[in-house]
Amino acid sequence: MRYFLVKSSIAIVSAYLFTATVLYASDRGHEEPHWGYDGIAGPEKWGSLKSGHERCQDGERQSPIDIKISEATEGKTLESIFVHYTNAPLEIVNNGHTIQVNGDGHSTAVIGGKEFTLVQLHFHEGSEHTVDGKQYPMEVHLVHQSEVGELAVIGVFMDIGDPNEVVKTVFDNMPAQAGEKKVDDGIKINATGLLPDRRGFYHYLGSLTTPPCTQIVEWYVMKEPITISEAQHAQFQKLYKNTFRPTQELGARKLLHK
Ligand SMILES: [Zn+2]
Repeated sequence: MRYFLVKSSIAIVSAYLFTATVLYASDRGHEEPHWGYDGIAGPEKWGSLKSGHERCQDGERQSPIDIKISEATEGKTLESIFVHYTNAPLEIVNNGHTIQVNGDGHSTAVIGGKEFTLVQLHFHEGSEHTVDGKQYPMEVHLVHQSEVGELAVIGVFMDIGDPNEVVKTVFDNMPAQAGEKKVDDGIKINATGLLPDRRGFYHYLGSLTTPPCTQIVEWYVMKEPITISEAQHAQFQKLYKNTFRPTQELGARKLLHK
């Protein structure tokens, strides 16, 4: 089942590569936001807002999901995640939907035994995935792309606790206006600091959690959250609040854990 899904996602990936590039590798932060998280352009409407976004409505492999721990099977053949993130000069964008930090192409990771490059990372206020119905204050998505365009996203829950140093660097440099971008070679970001110490994860096959909801994402959601302080959470909320898509049905998919 998994093999088939992965194969089919490779097959459709070239068709969606342009879209994925726009979403993930882009500096096109100035693009007009045509969808949102509430009201007439909210998640319930995403599928009908624009042609090409139909999967948001009729897709059967959508993300995020509620992770029901009792439904997660041990993935005996799942490989551990190995990250090789380097210090990257800060390139940070307010794209109108979130704050996004672009990778410089040198941070890599071996995920599911395959080599990926960290393309960008971004934040959701209100976690997108939930665990047995529990929503965390925030979630960071580390978006990786392979040479042939496969996408693997590591999701990390952000709970309230001790402040996080990498989050401090990012949040202290967030452009306040949608469409704004800041580049500063003097500031370095190492995304390793956004990962928990223990790297156990949940894994399933899903989609982008924003339009066009393309079903090409291998999801790896870390079991252990990182922490940010109350003040850091409030700092982000000044720019973005409630930027999560509601959870979608797992359906026939397998939820694995390691
Ligand atoms: Zn995301």
